[in-house]
Amino acid sequence: MVGLTEAFPLDEVAIHQVLETPPQEDSVRVRELLAKAREMKGLDDTDLPALMTIRDPQLLQELFDTARWVKDQIYGNRIVLFAPLYVSNQCGNECLYCAFRASNRELPRRTLSQEEIATEVHCLLAQGHKRLVLVAGEEYPGEGLDYVISAIRTVYDVRHGKDNIRRVNVNIAPLEVADFKRLRDAEIGTYQLFQETYHRETYRQMHPRGIKADYDWRLGCMDRAMMAGIDDVGIGALFGLYDWRFELLATMQHARHLEDRFGCGPHTISMPRIEPADGSSTSEAPPYAVSDEDFSKIIAILRLAVPYTGLILSTRERPEVRRQVMHLGISQISAGSRTNPGGYEEGSGDGGGQFSLGDHRSLDEVVRDLAEMGFIPSFCTSCYRMGRTGVDFMDIAKPGEIKAHCNPNALSTLQEYLEDHASPLTRCSAEQLMARSFTDLGDPARKIAEGMVARVKRGERDVFC
Ligand code: SAM
Ligand code: SF4
Repeated sequence: MVGLTEAFPLDEVAIHQVLETPPQEDSVRVRELLAKAREMKGLDDTDLPALMTIRDPQLLQELFDTARWVKDQIYGNRIVLFAPLYVSNQCGNECLYCAFRASNRELPRRTLSQEEIATEVHCLLAQGHKRLVLVAGEEYPGEGLDYVISAIRTVYDVRHGKDNIRRVNVNIAPLEVADFKRLRDAEIGTYQLFQETYHRETYRQMHPRGIKADYDWRLGCMDRAMMAGIDDVGIGALFGLYDWRFELLATMQHARHLEDRFGCGPHTISMPRIEPADGSSTSEAPPYAVSDEDFSKIIAILRLAVPYTGLILSTRERPEVRRQVMHLGISQISAGSRTNPGGYEEGSGDGGGQFSLGDHRSLDEVVRDLAEMGFIPSFCTSCYRMGRTGVDFMDIAKPGEIKAHCNPNALSTLQEYLEDHASPLTRCSAEQLMARSFTDLGDPARKIAEGMVARVKRGERDVFC
């Protein structure tokens, strides 16, 4: 029994045992597991090694097809869009893979004032964004956590015509329970934090100095967040630091632990791969670089193992990779991102970024591309605002009831985007997609969606159910 303040007890030995004696590739076992995955109740951790070892192209294709099928059943063809908002690149840590690390004297440092944050939010709203993840290095000079709390308030308070940001997720350094309660009271959406690597020895090597050098402080972070009443947490590993198989099994242990302890696993899982960062040789040649094929495998296996957990893909990845893996189970993507504080303000240049991006397209281009691929770009923030978070969200999601909300909300928020922000080309592609989507929707969702979209066309905004 885990005590109230104890960190999550990762069992590294068990993972190493599995990795040292990987199962032989066994098509019968793989197909049994794929059939089990189609029941959409998830997979056990002991099921994963058989899928991780797949090499045969035919079996790999069956894995991908199953992931695609599960994604379609649960999420349909919707993809939720968001953007990161970097408020500060000052940092006291020394993560070897990151341009923000303290010893990188070449990096121009900047912590945005509240006015500058508001300016960034105006730029993001002008593009059409409705949901952000606020990101910062681990140092808030002078004000400490108060700075972050003020920044969240600033974001929510900005009005740009009829637009405002409706959900602020947060990716900042681990906190004490009392401080997490302050973050919860600031009405954040998801609290997101990546363990980077669950492998203790690699973690020690990659984080030689600073508060972040304490592996256990970071590992226990989601326990503290959930103890503080934050319902939606997002976990992940930074792929490339250690063997992806280890990270995947450890991520699953983490998810199971949260589910056992709090009755609800992580709301989202991210799978960032290391990208080149200024002045970081580690980032240029990651010790365990993950190939595109293995990256696809990671996403497909996660989709089958935790079917109701959102999977997030960022603009670290190139458009070709994003197009390919989107089908395998991704539910949220970032678009039009900048990783330098102040980067959205026109003419501010791109110096001071955290790493180089793989996808430089604008939000409008990404929306058009999604529509042309048959995905409904969604700006929905409804669940969080209707109180469908944590256990309550899972209770609705697991029997499949959430779809009745998601489809109409996706279409009404897309219509808002088309009315207020889309280029003529994007509007044309998205309108064709919307027409097809209405036809595909059964009743009562179609009637609800048509009603909501009609209200948006008449000038109403923020129409959701
Ligand atoms: N500073 C806080 C922290 O480290 O948790 C929060 C934000 S940090 C700016 C966000 C994430 O960026 C890190 O958790 C890490 O996984 C990721 N990151 C750092 N360097 C990266 C790189 N070179 N390529 C891709 N992702 C990177
Ligand atoms: Fe700082 Fe986070 Fe970058 Fe580490 S990953 S150097 S903590 S900003």
